[in-house]
Amino acid sequence: MGNGAADAAHPAELEHERQARALAGQVMKFDIVTIFPRMVEAGLVEGVIGRGRTSGLLDIVVHDLRAFTSDRHRTVDDVPFGGGPGMVLKPEPLFGAVEKIRETRGTPDAVLLMSPAGRRFTQADARRLAKAGHVVVLCGRYEGVDERVREHLATEDVSIGDYVLSGGEVPALAIVDAIGRQVPGVVGDEQSVDEDSFTRGLLDHPHYTRPAEFRGHRVPDVLLSGHHGEIRQWRRREALRQTVERRPDLVADAPLDDEERKWLRGLQGLREQDEKQGSE
Ligand code: SAM
Repeated sequence: MGNGAADAAHPAELEHERQARALAGQVMKFDIVTIFPRMVEAGLVEGVIGRGRTSGLLDIVVHDLRAFTSDRHRTVDDVPFGGGPGMVLKPEPLFGAVEKIRETRGTPDAVLLMSPAGRRFTQADARRLAKAGHVVVLCGRYEGVDERVREHLATEDVSIGDYVLSGGEVPALAIVDAIGRQVPGVVGDEQSVDEDSFTRGLLDHPHYTRPAEFRGHRVPDVLLSGHHGEIRQWRRREALRQTVERRPDLVADAPLDDEERKWLRGLQGLREQDEKQGSE
């Protein structure tokens, strides 16, 4: 299942829509360079990103790094200078891939190297890069990538968290998803992007759906009340409460209004009381 209305549209209509968007400059381009193109392609078919591709808002090309080698064995890696375990991705194919992308798809606004040693990728980066228009993503493998790629080819090296994965493909999919969903029109209900965790500097509020009571656990009464003002207020307060409880580090930088600051003082007071009682 999956692409809903976009799937149902006639191919000629879709092509027309795609061309119109391209002319209006609304298309966000991604080029992903990897030694496992099928693995990356598989992650781009379904859901929001798959739909964004079908509707022409996202123009994503996955490149096989081996296509940019020049030897018979299509070698992409070599042993590390100085010795040590594992193999390192060679610079020539990666430089070749980005040069080809520049020639055929235009100069990218950003070339992101996936690296556990990179700066942590955030929601603010996703929003910034969604405005860029064209992003190249380079996936490392093995022991990593020749340092000259980071120094002279990538414009940023980014990590998706403090753990080491076997390759840059999963980080690339995570980053393309995070950026792609910020492109206007990709997520159907724009409001849901604006209310996502981190967008306002806070975590999202909790969500509930039917049934109103499940195994004795009831949905908060206010959500069933039909009072939109009270529901909005409950959601703002709950977003703040979740953030204070789970990610207090975010609160200091969150742009709060007067009412939220008042709630915050109350929530922090409760938290201090709990901590005091816990240590007694
Ligand atoms: N030796 C490297 C180190 O310790 O930093 C780890 C290399 S890792 C096995 C291979 C590739 O996976 C990296 O070059 C990078 O592209 C990708 N990778 C692994 N963990 C990552 C993370 N947390 N964020 C982004 N990319 C990651």
